[in-house]
Amino acid sequence: MKNTQAYYDEIKKKFAEERDLRLKYRPNGTAQFTSDFTGALAKYAVDPYGTEISPREPINDTVECLFIGGGFSALLTSARLRERGVESIRIVERGADVGGTWYWNRYPGVACDVVSYDYLPLLDEMDYVPKDHYAKGQEILAHCQSIARKYQLYELAVFQTTVTSTVWNEEEELWHLTTDRGDHMKARFVICANGTLSKPKLARIEGLDTFEGKSFHTSQWDYEYTGDDLSNLADKVVGIIGTGATAVQAVPDLGASTKELYVFQRTPSSIDIREDWPTDPNWARRLKPGWQAKRRELALKGPSLTERMATRGGSSGEESREEKIRRQENANIDYMMRIHRRIEKEVKDPETADALKPWYMFMCKRPCFHNDYLPTYNRPNVHLVDTRGKGITEITAKGPLFDGKQYELDLLIYATGFEVQKTGIYNQIVGKGGLDLNDKYSEGVRTLLGVHSRGYPNLFIMGGYQASFQFNLTYILQMQGDHIAECIAHARKHGHKTIDATPESEEWWVQEVIANRGKTTRNEDCTPGYYNFEGENQRRQDGNYNGGVTRYLDHMSNVRANMTENFVFT
Ligand code: NDP
Repeated sequence: MKNTQAYYDEIKKKFAEERDLRLKYRPNGTAQFTSDFTGALAKYAVDPYGTEISPREPINDTVECLFIGGGFSALLTSARLRERGVESIRIVERGADVGGTWYWNRYPGVACDVVSYDYLPLLDEMDYVPKDHYAKGQEILAHCQSIARKYQLYELAVFQTTVTSTVWNEEEELWHLTTDRGDHMKARFVICANGTLSKPKLARIEGLDTFEGKSFHTSQWDYEYTGDDLSNLADKVVGIIGTGATAVQAVPDLGASTKELYVFQRTPSSIDIREDWPTDPNWARRLKPGWQAKRRELALKGPSLTERMATRGGSSGEESREEKIRRQENANIDYMMRIHRRIEKEVKDPETADALKPWYMFMCKRPCFHNDYLPTYNRPNVHLVDTRGKGITEITAKGPLFDGKQYELDLLIYATGFEVQKTGIYNQIVGKGGLDLNDKYSEGVRTLLGVHSRGYPNLFIMGGYQASFQFNLTYILQMQGDHIAECIAHARKHGHKTIDATPESEEWWVQEVIANRGKTTRNEDCTPGYYNFEGENQRRQDGNYNGGVTRYLDHMSNVRANMTENFVFT
């Protein structure tokens, strides 16, 4: 039987109430978090995987292309640069190896929710077929290392090094970079490849620094403490704050290994089925060269995850804009109610099941896929502490305090996420006329395609705002990498020393971004989270380009086809 509109309106009302409740609890928006890990929080800035820092002399040389960050952005762009004959490529990376997100995130259960054959870049070039439908973190990290080896990126790479300033030298037409290891490097082209979600953040919880037990952020998992197989946790009481995509993957292993596990929840994630399987060797054998490129091309032609949701509910011919929105919203609600039913089926205790139900539209928060997360709550040692939108606001020497109850913990794990799409984390970027990029952006982000920003010649941004966004992030990164490699190749071919966006092309793009944002009230309607700046609603041009991936790619090609109109060269 078809649900009535009154049924959907009632659920929408509940969505709005749940959102308002959460907004009330966090009036300070994105400022509720801190990523300033100094002083008492310095222990959250350690690298548990590369504890030995190899001594070396400071570097004072000049390279042609320098990547800040050694994750997928750097690796896949470097591959394209090598294909175009660029020899002098340096990666400067904070971790002790390449891999970026996959270097840092080694928490138990770490894997990627995007199908591996789409997510892992350069599969054609590397002649590699992933082992499973969804790749695990270890395999992805190993793939990153293989790319670095194949394209000889280790030769000039510098690890355990953080770029602290990147300053344009007008006379030399070179970027001057300093680091925390006393280096003074110069580069013709600089690519900000620092990742979209790379700087861990903690909620500013009162008493955070007073906790006397062990604590760490999920991206700095201390296996020395937990044991490689988590066996050291068998007699430990453990708490985890946060229930986003990271916690959803870590909780099942923690539940199976700890004496007691407390999961502190502010907003539940939506958890759908994860259909995983080992790669069929016969299928893999039959793949023809170029299979991944073809697969990605096909995927682009098909509807995106959001579009698939949007077309559910079947349009009945002519419909007005309002009817279309209502149909899409109702289909979205149907999907979310299916997620609710799945919880009721998987979680035995009705109170816990109820608390795990997400009350917001699909894609308001990053959707999750897991088969073991929900059943983990059936274990007698696993306890959901639902803070009903408030979150943990106080931590004492013993552990979190909520509703007057003290949770005494041996280990407290923060699964509280990362700074989002910041360009120049850890690093001050100063362009022409001594203008700090943060000052330029103070009234809103200003770029061309999310990649170039006027006044910062030869600087390219990857994974930043004003670019298109896709669930399969590496696809967008590859498109940006291809674009950047072509821009650099164009400048080299024509003997140009610099390439910079024109004022007109930058202004065109900013307006294009604004025109494609705020067409619906979707962002405001959503429960707060990092997708909508935690409910801050005045940031019109700071988000991603919402005109669609295909149009973004078309814009990119058009910009490249009209280089002299869009860029100033010297
Ligand atoms: P998120 O930012 O998604 O989640 C942070 C969590 O911390 C939220 O549940 C948030 O609640 C909660 N939180 C914050 N403050 C408090 C508090 N005071 N008390 C209680 N809870 C609190 O971070 P993740 O690391 O989980 O994920 C980040 C992103 O990384 C994902 O969205 C995804 O893009 C990517 N990722 C991808 C994976 C994959 O492919 N499978 C796996 C892991 C991560 P609230 O929702 O209320 O804000």
